[in-house]
Amino acid sequence: MARIHVIGAGLAGLSAAVELAGKAEISLYEAAPQAGGRCRSYFDASLNMTIDNGNHLLLSGNHAALAYARKIGGEAKLAGPEEASFDFCDLERRTRWTLRPNAGKFPWWILAPDRRVPNTAGLDYLALVKLLFAGPDQTLRPFLGNGEIARNLWNPLFVSALNTDPAEASAALAGAIVRETFAEGGVACRPVVAVEGLSAAFVDPALDFLRGAGADIRFGAKLRAIEFDGDRAAALDFGEERIALATGDKVVLAVTAPVATALLPGLTAPTEFRAIVNAHFACPAPKSLPLLTGVIGGATEWLFGFADRLSVTISAAERFLATPREELAATIWAEVQAVAGISEPMPAWQIIKEKRATFAATPAQDALRPGAETEWRNLVLAGDWTRTGLPATIEGAVRSGLRAAAFVEVPA
Ligand SMILES: Cc1cc2nc3c(=O)[nH]c(=O)nc-3n(C[C@H](O)[C@H](O)[C@H](O)COP(=O)(O)OP(=O)(O)OC[C@H]3O[C@@H](n4cnc5c(N)ncnc54)[C@H](O)[C@@H]3O)c2cc1C
Repeated sequence: MARIHVIGAGLAGLSAAVELAGKAEISLYEAAPQAGGRCRSYFDASLNMTIDNGNHLLLSGNHAALAYARKIGGEAKLAGPEEASFDFCDLERRTRWTLRPNAGKFPWWILAPDRRVPNTAGLDYLALVKLLFAGPDQTLRPFLGNGEIARNLWNPLFVSALNTDPAEASAALAGAIVRETFAEGGVACRPVVAVEGLSAAFVDPALDFLRGAGADIRFGAKLRAIEFDGDRAAALDFGEERIALATGDKVVLAVTAPVATALLPGLTAPTEFRAIVNAHFACPAPKSLPLLTGVIGGATEWLFGFADRLSVTISAAERFLATPREELAATIWAEVQAVAGISEPMPAWQIIKEKRATFAATPAQDALRPGAETEWRNLVLAGDWTRTGLPATIEGAVRSGLRAAAFVEVPA
């Protein structure tokens, strides 16, 4: 059986390896001491608990990600409301509402004032339809406008989905999200959260699955160079070890965009990235707090209420990178108190600033994304930054892995 060498054990590499397990011998190489890349859990000493590198939200329309979780046995670690439902809290106006798209494809919920954003009209939601026809060069802001619905729904929704300010974000990538969620009805819009941690749902079961299939998994294995021979990759250089590629061996390169461009001469890939800031507080969520609350009118954008902690996500967060951590924690905790209706003093906390959380989902950066195939016939690319048609998400990463697997399954 041919051997497939998968480089990078983020979700793209894991999904490729899981897909190929049993069809080929698998070697998985990861530079870090653990798998999961930008989607993983770790023990945080300040909080004395295991948390995620960043809160991640999926929607029930993320079919590839959910099928991956099902295949590896991680599905039971995912939770969320049984129907599409998003609670919002406006800190400035002290108002709350719940967005409740109906399950079917015909969106009658936009005609129901108790299911849509307050002070909006059904016609305001036409922006979603227009986005389905957005061209690759168009930016998002003109589709959203500056009205009530932009402030209270479009901005929080699309800033988190694209991790890019709508003023510069790609309207086509926003349209891709709409096509796979809202356009499919509420059944595709249910929030899904890895309540026991990202690694428990997406990473650890994948490693068990791969080990069960006989995969060779190596941590601390950083690929330093690739040797080429004409139109094929001939050897992988890990510094202390050089692995020659036999005829029929193939490589799935599932590393980050900057690493891939350093390893592959002439590769074009995104060069700009956007930050995500997460704040975690060691305070169990009050029973009355939903798993997820959209927050308007503050620094906080989404509040996750976990059994052991309250966690906040702020996307496209460049504006907070220079803010001192203590100041940021205090600001966010005051907002969390207001949203959760609690008055406890600030508990143990942690602020994580992921400066390069995702590539900038702008039209120009989107145009730089390469497909899976390369000029080397035994080497394909995977990663959320490759041309998946989606922004940088778990769904995009998993799909890129499936696509890479489909390419390498074909005999050389
Ligand atoms: C804070 C944060 C919040 C997010 N929130 C969401 C969300 O709510 N919903 C959502 O869907 N997505 C979210 N994302 C995006 C999602 O996490 C990513 O799209 C996805 O994890 C990317 O997976 P990947 O495999 O493409 O890349 P990575 O996870 O970056 O994997 C690449 C792997 O390659 C390894 N590697 C790099 N160089 C080498 C080398 N030379 N040799 C060997 N290995 C190497 C890296 O260590 C890494 O493990 C978020 C991301 C962050 C950072």
